[in-house]
Amino acid sequence: MTMVGFNISMYKKLVLTFSLLLVCSTVCGQWYKESFKVMGTQAHVEFWLAPEQSIQIARVLIEAVKDEMHRIDKEMSPYKVNSLLSVINRQASISPVKISPELFELLKVSSEVSKLSDGAFDITFASVGYKYDYRASKRPKKETIASALSSIDYSAVILDEKNLTVSFNQAAIKIDLGGIAKGFAVKQCLNILASNGVEHALVSAGGDTALIGDRLGRDWLVGIKHPRAEHKTAVQIPLNNEAISTSGDYERYFIEDGVRYHHIINPKTGDSARKVVSVSIIGKDATYVDALSTTVFVMGLSKGMALIDKLSGYEAIIIDNQQTMHFSKGLQQN
Ligand code: ADP
Ligand code: MG
Repeated sequence: MTMVGFNISMYKKLVLTFSLLLVCSTVCGQWYKESFKVMGTQAHVEFWLAPEQSIQIARVLIEAVKDEMHRIDKEMSPYKVNSLLSVINRQASISPVKISPELFELLKVSSEVSKLSDGAFDITFASVGYKYDYRASKRPKKETIASALSSIDYSAVILDEKNLTVSFNQAAIKIDLGGIAKGFAVKQCLNILASNGVEHALVSAGGDTALIGDRLGRDWLVGIKHPRAEHKTAVQIPLNNEAISTSGDYERYFIEDGVRYHHIINPKTGDSARKVVSVSIIGKDATYVDALSTTVFVMGLSKGMALIDKLSGYEAIIIDNQQTMHFSKGLQQN
């Protein structure tokens, strides 16, 4: 007897395919993937496990990656009233706030990148930045920006290394880690995978991607979004063992009278930075790569590229307002 549309030879083929898959997963190892939402964006983890490692180990690792991203989000989100970041923003101008060693470290890196970029990267941009509501297409009035501009000042964030505290020496200061936290999060997740022996992996959160090794003998291909055509890729970059972060003016924005108001703020003006439309930074450290993509976006093509060309271990791909792509020295072919 045969079922409708199904005969014995098809059954044999299925059994054979299934057995081959089983043999392959025990002999060749296997890729595992998962996508999930966190930090207001799409995250993705993908890794390869050797044949002797089971699907249970893969499950545990995927859960560990998801938990880590959610833990960092809970600590650093400006949208959660009980996050450590929200507590800092409420209390640090009144008295020093005790913080976790990892948050302290992130504030130190933020301050370092601020100094490096003459304040183009500045987590106190939020003193003005929080007055924008991109979803509601709302922006602060010129006078509101003018009166809050003096509260964008990274030197007003006081870090006490001995007591692990942060305080603000001005009342109206607010900080936000949106320009650096996702890079830190993918780095943390990659460390979890690496310390469990994973040798080929990709972890991403929005425009931040970090990689362990290659894709089994081939490079990973990381796409940079087309800045003006949703769902299109401008270029694919072959990479391994590195991190890449893209900052674009198309992630959160609204257009009013032909002007694009978006989420990357020039700390000197309190207005959106408009010198370029997309910046990708490549380098070993996902946290710095994230901070630098925001930084170079604010600095623009000539100053931003000059900064990257002087830093060893970092490369940049910048798309300007005419949608021309520019590469840092290390990416140019001779
Ligand atoms: P995305 O968050 O879209 O991946 P970025 O890494 O460029 O892109 O981060 C943009 C975020 O950085 C903004 O949403 C905001 O939280 C923060 N930010 C904006 N302007 C600055 C700035 N001048 N310095 C530091 N952080 C900034
Ligand atoms: Mg960034």
